[in-house]
Amino acid sequence: MIEIEKFNPFDIMTFSYDKCFLCGEELDNENCSEEHIYPKWLQRKFNLWNKTIDLLNGTKIQYKDLKIPCCRKCNGILSDMIEMPISEAVDAGFATFIMLDEKTIFQWLNKLAYGMLFKELSLKSDRSDPQSPSIYNEEYLKEHKMQFLFLQSIIYNSVFFNNPWSILIFKINPEQEEKYWAYENPFSKFFAIRLNDIGVIANLMDNGCLKDSFMQFEHMKELFNNDLHPIQFAELCAKLHYKTYLLNKTPYYTIAFHKNYGLQHIISHDISGSVVFSEWNQEEYAYHLEFFLSGWGLKFSDLYLGGNLVMSYLRNEDGSFKNLFNTLKE
Ligand SMILES: [Zn+2]
Repeated sequence: MIEIEKFNPFDIMTFSYDKCFLCGEELDNENCSEEHIYPKWLQRKFNLWNKTIDLLNGTKIQYKDLKIPCCRKCNGILSDMIEMPISEAVDAGFATFIMLDEKTIFQWLNKLAYGMLFKELSLKSDRSDPQSPSIYNEEYLKEHKMQFLFLQSIIYNSVFFNNPWSILIFKINPEQEEKYWAYENPFSKFFAIRLNDIGVIANLMDNGCLKDSFMQFEHMKELFNNDLHPIQFAELCAKLHYKTYLLNKTPYYTIAFHKNYGLQHIISHDISGSVVFSEWNQEEYAYHLEFFLSGWGLKFSDLYLGGNLVMSYLRNEDGSFKNLFNTLKE
């Protein structure tokens, strides 16, 4: 029996440190644990402990301090259901990682994104002033309620009908230096991450639109067969980040709760169609490219060549794949 009215899952959505961030249970000495947003295995593997991440209030925080309150039970479920399979697949490399269930990858990325949201919400916009307001306001928070339900799908083992996500996985040449890199945009739900030879580009709440648009182009699909140089992966991030920015429809969902068993089903509705994205503009795109290529010291003026021309590290002028790896070896 489905009883939606009597059960409001958002009642247990909490951003305080005396309750579990996932199930809302009150924490005491018996049941409390700390969940690292960026898990310990990841910090160990890529030596992230003392590295910093930028917060929305303009300050930086070390990865090792990114912890959120979690009950022992949820901590165990998170570990078994998502951290272990992801960690093992990252260790094994690209060929194993692409065999993972997309749902597991989605739940993992969504945990990182939601964990960051929790952290941002629990911090003040001015960390030196205890009276200053939270970084996020209540109104904005409502947009994240669906993200919270996606997260709870882990503890309720809920079933997704159609995917709320887009996930694209690329192979990055493992010999290239930087082994870890991540970028997440909490507003657009865009998430890109590099883990050794694995490059993942995702949107956590677009009902598959980004992936659909990508798969329409044969020359884009061919990229799955190539080892990418990191700058090529960054160019793909820029393309898909800009495409996400052009998404002009709001995804929507139907959810079903059981009064005893919690969240049962999440149905993502098809929002695809001819006008799902606004028109692509090369000059605007070049600003996104500049952002993702900033690590290579490239500026807008290097990348935007006027008219419809934008620099590409993915393709030669005849449209064929640019093999940067061989070029560098020669
Ligand atoms: Zn819990």
